[in-house]
Amino acid sequence: MKNIEPLSSWINKTNLKRPVVIAGPCSAETSEQVMDTAIQLQSYGVNIFRAGIWKPRTRPNSFEGVGEKGLAWLQDVKQKTGMMTAIEVANTRHVELALGAGIDILWIGARTSVNPFAVQEIADSLKNKDIPVMVKNPINPDLDLWIGALERLNNVGINKLVAIHRGFSTYQKTKYRNKPEWQIAIELKRKIPNLPILCDPSHICGTPKYIEEVSQISMDLNYHGLMIETHPNPQEAWSDARQQITPKDLYEILNRLVIRKEEISNKSLLETLSELRTMIDLCDNQLLDLMEKRMDIVEKIGRHKKANDIAILQNKRWDDILQRIIKKGIEKGLSKDFVSTIFKTIHIESINHQTKIMNDD
Ligand code: PEP
Ligand code: MN
Repeated sequence: MKNIEPLSSWINKTNLKRPVVIAGPCSAETSEQVMDTAIQLQSYGVNIFRAGIWKPRTRPNSFEGVGEKGLAWLQDVKQKTGMMTAIEVANTRHVELALGAGIDILWIGARTSVNPFAVQEIADSLKNKDIPVMVKNPINPDLDLWIGALERLNNVGINKLVAIHRGFSTYQKTKYRNKPEWQIAIELKRKIPNLPILCDPSHICGTPKYIEEVSQISMDLNYHGLMIETHPNPQEAWSDARQQITPKDLYEILNRLVIRKEEISNKSLLETLSELRTMIDLCDNQLLDLMEKRMDIVEKIGRHKKANDIAILQNKRWDDILQRIIKKGIEKGLSKDFVSTIFKTIHIESINHQTKIMNDD
């Protein structure tokens, strides 16, 4: 992606300390609630204020945001506190109104970033505009879709781009509202290293309970900052009441976060780490060699199956392997989830190799 600007090019110095924090209510509700939250946050050192003006709700007939009139409340916040303001935009009308009201930062929500038509329309309305845009991950765990949304904005000349990791929805209930799937964000960082990334622990967790833990993980993964929903009276919030925290709780969490150094300056530590990393590379090579060996054997079995007209999938045998392996893995201190995911993936690759043999002449 072209010319992505670092946060330091558009966030002033005092706000730049890691983590960069964006906080404020899920929704702007009243002018008093907006101003009260902003003043408290500012007193705790937060300089970027968020509030939802138009709210994408899962079901109709719930509170869908105060709409346009909330923009004036954000203008007041900006004027009174000097904070930068950020809102979600989901269509071109939102963009026009936000730009007209002098909003400093726009973000595209998870229910919009899934839709290339919607993202393209928003991007077209931002052509040659110099405004920071943050893109939340799409609700489904699809890295290309997330990157695609970022590219659509970059293609129209938006260089002040930021990714926000807010987790992915699952049908199964997990301890999180939206599963983090950290590997997706790590892969995004690997593919686009100069793209700043923030974590939104509020929407990942769905409860204040894990906000600190998830924020800490994101800091350990070198994220640049956090977006956290805050409300003066979370229980009374008109949206996402279960996950918002007070400005004071936010302040306390931020103070407890351990911010580790990104760069390693100590020489002997660097050498030790480099040795250990080499060992990891060797282990990975061995794993690949073993996989190759396993697939050779799998192919031999495939040839026997073909010669004797036996179906590829032997359910009972596969189930026995999986149970045995999971048991062994747990004895070795590996989690059941990890072992079962790896071996299911290996099994699919094995079936693919055998299918190829069955279909080769
Ligand atoms: C929000 O930030 O309030 C919001 C609606 O988030 P998301 O798009 O991540 O669900
Ligand atoms: Mn919310």
